[in-house]
Amino acid sequence: PIEPWHIGGPVVKGFGRGSKVLGIPTANLSTKGYSALLSEHPSGVYFGWAGLSSQGLYKMVMSIGWNPYFNNTEKTIEPWLLHEFDGDFYGEELRLVVVGYIRPEANFSSLESLIAKIHEDRRIAERALDIPTYSKYRDDPYLKGSS
Ligand code: ADP
Ligand code: MG
Repeated sequence: PIEPWHIGGPVVKGFGRGSKVLGIPTANLSTKGYSALLSEHPSGVYFGWAGLSSQGLYKMVMSIGWNPYFNNTEKTIEPWLLHEFDGDFYGEELRLVVVGYIRPEANFSSLESLIAKIHEDRRIAERALDIPTYSKYRDDPYLKGSS
């Protein structure tokens, strides 16, 4: 287990690739103000809990990094909330407690293999977050926006 850490802010627009190209929407957070925190944590895939103001609490699996497949030049923070929403929630306050690390960032030879890996990451996150070691963090007050 890793030492849990917090990150949050309003959901911002990304490149619009998550849902359209991958079928996997990711609610991007701004990296502004988080450069120190991000340099402390390696790029890769993490999991944890997400609090979305007004809407509720969800499991999430998150990529932090450069997205080598897409040749990004800026680091991004992209949590996929493991829930079916009726619509978008750009601008809403999203708070994350990051509790576990799955794997380093990797490049993939095809979009299909990238998508398959993300679904494998999701299954790992789903299962891990049911274990008391990780499930207890759903009660973290940070998620509710009170601190
Ligand atoms: P962008 O590049 O702007 O982040 P995406 O294709 O990654 O676009 O879609 C992400 C957006 O979709 C989020 O900002 C959010 O408003 C919406 N969304 C809907 N369902 C989810 C979900 N389960 N997880 C994350 N974002 C979701
Ligand atoms: Mg996104």
